[in-house]
Amino acid sequence: MGKTAFFTDERTFWHTGGIQSLVLPVGGWVQPPSSAGFAESPDSKRRLLSLLKVSGVADKLDMRSAEPASREDLLRIHPAAYLEAFKHASDTTGGDFSGSAPFGIGSYEIAALSAGLATGAIDAVLSGTCGNAFSLSRPPGHHCLPDMPLGFCLLANIPIAIEAARARHGIERVAIVDWDVHHGNGTQAIYYEDPDTLTISLHQDRCFPPGYSGAEDIGTGRGTGANINIPLLPGGGHAVYMRAFERIVVPALEAFKPDLIVVASGLDASAVDPLARMNLHSDSFRNMTRTMVDAAARLCGGRLVIIHEGGYSETYVPFCGQAVIEALSGETSAVVDPLMEMALAWQPEERFDALQFGILEEMARSRGL
Ligand SMILES: [Zn+2]
Repeated sequence: MGKTAFFTDERTFWHTGGIQSLVLPVGGWVQPPSSAGFAESPDSKRRLLSLLKVSGVADKLDMRSAEPASREDLLRIHPAAYLEAFKHASDTTGGDFSGSAPFGIGSYEIAALSAGLATGAIDAVLSGTCGNAFSLSRPPGHHCLPDMPLGFCLLANIPIAIEAARARHGIERVAIVDWDVHHGNGTQAIYYEDPDTLTISLHQDRCFPPGYSGAEDIGTGRGTGANINIPLLPGGGHAVYMRAFERIVVPALEAFKPDLIVVASGLDASAVDPLARMNLHSDSFRNMTRTMVDAAARLCGGRLVIIHEGGYSETYVPFCGQAVIEALSGETSAVVDPLMEMALAWQPEERFDALQFGILEEMARSRGL
């Protein structure tokens, strides 16, 4: 098997959401932030890349950039009217069309590059120029609807990349596993009627979009059954995610028989993320990645691409991301997770896990898994 290709580009770290404090525009009672401020800042991503470099893992990867997504690639997902409105605002003033996806001048080109890196990663795997691939870029994509940006996401990176791959490589069945702690609502909306794209989202129940849970949303028309939501009670940790993979995610992939697995890897289900309340640590992300590597090896010739989504702890994202990339590439390093002891102490007690396991079992049975 070939190396792991790692797609990234410093230019995508220059996208700005303007001056915000966490997710709040400055003004009224909200003071300007002390430093980076805006939750979807470049620093978590840049620090992950730094850790990969100083630990020596980056030297073992096939480091690449890619061209921005072409207009043709963007138009397979987004209507021209949306692209034009976004481009115009990006050229002149910046803006925020939905109240949760602010952008500055020049963000259109940066978002197209972010989508292009995802496209490059899938293209590299399907062309056989690498064993598997990872893409680290921003802005993220999984909340973006065809005609409306949402939740920091300005273009639907993964659907853009998958549809480009379908056009160029004729690949058919694609499974998307979204372990970002927020619901992958954009991806779900885009593929809701598509029987050839299995969308699975594990997310904190009712976190984002606010109030959304989604277990009953299973797709529609010919796509019925090809959408799986796994809402998880806030506070759940390692054991809950492992059970969800064992009982639902892996059996669903086995039943679906994908030609390619794409992971939307948010690192915001970690124990210290400021925008959610789950309790994962680096070994949780390591194990989930290994499970996907094994599933891809069994089901689709190892064809696995992991695309970075959210993750807002500047301190912890690098350690969780390092674990993902080590498990994906098979490389190891001397990096030790400095928050592991605390995260282990924060795992919920057994009666919480038992309650959540019961809910997962019911979800699995209702889906015939
Ligand atoms: Zn997220």
